[in-house]
Amino acid sequence: MLLAKRLENLHPYVPGEQPKDRVYIKLNANENPYPPCKAVAKAVKKAVAKNISNLGLYPDPDSNDLRFAIAEMLNETGGCFNNSKEAKKALPFTITPDMIFCGNGSDEVLSFVFYTFFDSDRPLVMPEFTYSFYPVYCGYYNIPMCQVPLKETWELDVDKMLEEANKNDSAIIFANPNAPTGIALKRAEVAAMIEKAPKDKIFIVDEAYADFGDESCIPLLEKYDNLVIVRTFSKSLSFAGMRLGYIVASPDLVRSVFTVKNSFNHFPVDFLAQKAGIASCENYDYCEENARKVVAERESITKFLRERGWFVIDSKTNFIFAKKDGVKGTDIYQAVKKAGILIRHFATPGIEEFVRISIGTKKQMDLLKSVLEEV
Ligand SMILES: *Cc1c(COP(=O)(O)O)cnc(C)c1O
Repeated sequence: MLLAKRLENLHPYVPGEQPKDRVYIKLNANENPYPPCKAVAKAVKKAVAKNISNLGLYPDPDSNDLRFAIAEMLNETGGCFNNSKEAKKALPFTITPDMIFCGNGSDEVLSFVFYTFFDSDRPLVMPEFTYSFYPVYCGYYNIPMCQVPLKETWELDVDKMLEEANKNDSAIIFANPNAPTGIALKRAEVAAMIEKAPKDKIFIVDEAYADFGDESCIPLLEKYDNLVIVRTFSKSLSFAGMRLGYIVASPDLVRSVFTVKNSFNHFPVDFLAQKAGIASCENYDYCEENARKVVAERESITKFLRERGWFVIDSKTNFIFAKKDGVKGTDIYQAVKKAGILIRHFATPGIEEFVRISIGTKKQMDLLKSVLEEV
């Protein structure tokens, strides 16, 4: 046999399609419809022009300047973008760069986190429907899973998750806001959950979409040493192509993830991504403004569809999860594709009636509305 046995455990993640046959409006991968800020292009140009030999040298293995810039951004924003008009709330403590670990996209960061914290001796507790990369990594690292069904309202069944975690002294992971539902637990609800979860196991909250919601769980790091918060530049910072993600956690936990990183790939974040990431953090107010636009369009399409008899889950993200009685999810997807717009449909039993629509610009959403009017 040529292949390792472990290959049998691999069930790779399937990303939203990226077809080349025709130019589609892409509302299928939760990318940001706005480009990164101009300062990013400038920083990259300058970094290359100043000394091209930088590209021939290894980058800072620990992304120290970038970690500093991320910490500054989090301290200034209070943990996430503020989409309401309320004043920004300060964090109850200061995030220091040693509380940040950066990687080549949060998918890679998650891979390091799984390797660092989970063994194959007990199941990792997660919702049945959540970010579908978690089960993929469980297969990769041979970690058993306990997938807890969502409630009828599509919310997390917090009590059941806690019951399962306490039964086996297990770690817990979920996305908040969750994907693909878009529903968020409030920070106070997450705090209450951590209180009742095993104290000697990691509790992971993946905040890929927190900048489109109301609050981050970062303030909870003051109190809970077992909390790990995962963030990405891909959604709210318009960086899906640059690949940057990070965790925020206690310096001790961050050090352990560094040990794993340095045993696998010393230099996960390349020179240009570090420069671009720093420029992006320093100019986050541009992205904060874009997030507000996305939120406004999200509310608009939600209202539009509900007025036309659709079931749309209240979303705190840059996408909506919606269905219409009597119409198949795959038919909606096909009809919209014919009109030049890609959205996402999952064939997974339980959610196959739904489509997931990423929020685009006003112009893109107006076009989508005119197409959906016909469905
Ligand atoms: C998009 C997404 C990620 C992955 O982001 P990358 O940084 O692009 O790898 C992780 N978690 C959730 C919940 C996501 O939606």
